[in-house]
Amino acid sequence: MLNRTIIDHLRREVGAGNVYHEKEDLLVLGYDATPEISALPDVAVFPHNIDGLRAALETCRRESLALTPRGAATGLSGGSTPVRGGMVLGLTRMNRILEIDEENLTATAEAGVITVDLFNAAAAKGLFYPPDPGSQNVSTLGGNVAENAGGLRGLKYGVTRNYVMALSGLLYDGTEFHTGGKCVKDVAGYSLRDLLVGSEGTLGIITEVTVRLISPPQDKRTLLAYFRDIRTAGEAVSRIIAARIIPATLEIMDKTTINCVEDYAGIGLPRDMGALLLIEVDGHPAVVAEEAEGVRKILEEVRADRRCGRTPFAKPLTPRRPYSSPPRGGPPSRPSPAFPRPPFSKTQPFPAAALPKPSPRSNVSRRNTASASPPSATPATEIFTPRR
Ligand SMILES: Cc1cc2nc3c(=O)[nH]c(=O)nc-3n(C[C@H](O)[C@H](O)[C@H](O)COP(=O)(O)OP(=O)(O)OC[C@H]3O[C@@H](n4cnc5c(N)ncnc54)[C@H](O)[C@@H]3O)c2cc1C
Repeated sequence: MLNRTIIDHLRREVGAGNVYHEKEDLLVLGYDATPEISALPDVAVFPHNIDGLRAALETCRRESLALTPRGAATGLSGGSTPVRGGMVLGLTRMNRILEIDEENLTATAEAGVITVDLFNAAAAKGLFYPPDPGSQNVSTLGGNVAENAGGLRGLKYGVTRNYVMALSGLLYDGTEFHTGGKCVKDVAGYSLRDLLVGSEGTLGIITEVTVRLISPPQDKRTLLAYFRDIRTAGEAVSRIIAARIIPATLEIMDKTTINCVEDYAGIGLPRDMGALLLIEVDGHPAVVAEEAEGVRKILEEVRADRRCGRTPFAKPLTPRRPYSSPPRGGPPSRPSPAFPRPPFSKTQPFPAAALPKPSPRSNVSRRNTASASPPSATPATEIFTPRR
C-alpha cells in the first residue's frame, strides 16, 4: 500500500482520472493472458502524454518502486504482470495515429494504438501493414514491438521487427531516446531499434513507433486441406515450400486444436481428421493463380482429394460464446484475461480470409472502413479431403 502523498502527487502530475490505487481497480491489472501468473501492483498510472509518463517514471525512481509497462495485456510471457508490485504503467491512453506518410510509405503512431487501428488507417490510404498477431483487435503497437509479435502472415510478410523503422520513448532514468528513421538505408552504427524490438519492456518505455507500409496484395486464394494424420500435413508443408511457393498463410492445426475450435465455435470442422492446413496465397492475380495451382497439385500428390466450389462450412461461423471485452485504457470491467474477438463472423466467414475489423474505439477506424483486402469476388475456399 502506497502512502497517500505519493498517490496525491501522481494524481496532480498525471491527472486524477489516470491513477488507480484501490484494490478493486488494481486486481484487474495484476495479470495478462499468461496462465497462472498474477500479482497485485500498488498503483496503476495511465498517462495521456509524455509529460505524464515522465512524471510517473520520476516517481518510481524517487520512491524505488518497481515498474511494469503494460499495453493491452494480451502477452503470453507474463511481461505485463507486476510480479514485484510497485507501479503498472498503462500505455493505452497514448493512442493517437500521428501520420500515414504516403510519400515515404510509413506510419507513425503512439505506442498505445491498437494494431488493427493502424492496419485500417493504412488500408484507408490503399496501404498495407502486414503484422497480424491473433490478438490484433486488442493488442497495442508498443506491445507488438516489445514482443516482436507476428501472426498468420508472418511466413510471407515477416513479423513486427521487419516493419519497425523508428522508435521513440523514455529510458527508465527519464532520458528520451529516438532511434531509426524513415530512411531505408539508415544502416550505420549499432541498431538500437533492433535491440528494443522484443525487449519486453526491459530497456525502456516505447512511446512512438514508425513502421514501414507496403502495397496490399491485389488478389488471394484460400485453400483448406484435411489430413488423416499430422505427418502427411507436415509433408505437404515441406513440399509447398520446396516448390518455392511462400503462402501468405500456412497454418497447421492438429486434431486436439480442431476439436478445441469445434468445442468453442461449432463451425462444422471434422473432428475425426488428424490435421488441417489453412493455406492462403496472395499477390498479383497471375501469381495467385499459378501458386494456387501449384498448391493444388501438391495436395493431390500427398493424396488429398479436391472438392472445389463448396461453401467452406455447413453453417455460419458464429461462435457459441459471446466475445468478452478485454482490458483497455484503464482497469477492465471484469477480471478476465484479455482475449480478442474470435476470428469468425457471419460477414467474414473464414478465418484465413478474415481481415481485421475496425475497432469501435478508434476515430481513425470509425472514419476509415477501407480495407487492404483483395477484391471480394475471391472464390470460395477450396476444400481438400483425404481419399477413402
Ligand atoms: C488470443 C491471443 C492471440 C495471440 N496471438 C499472437 C500471435 O499470433 N502472435 C504473437 O506474436 N503473439 C500473439 N499473442 C501474444 C500477444 O498478443 C502479443 O505478444 C502482443 O504483441 C502483446 O501486445 P500487448 O499490447 O497486449 O502487450 P502487453 O501484453 O501489455 O505487454 C507485452 C510486453 O511488452 C511490454 N510493453 C508493452 N507496451 C510497452 C511499451 N509501450 N514500451 C515498452 N514495453 C512495453 C510489457 O511490459 C510486456 O513485457 C496472442 C495473445 C492472445 C491472448
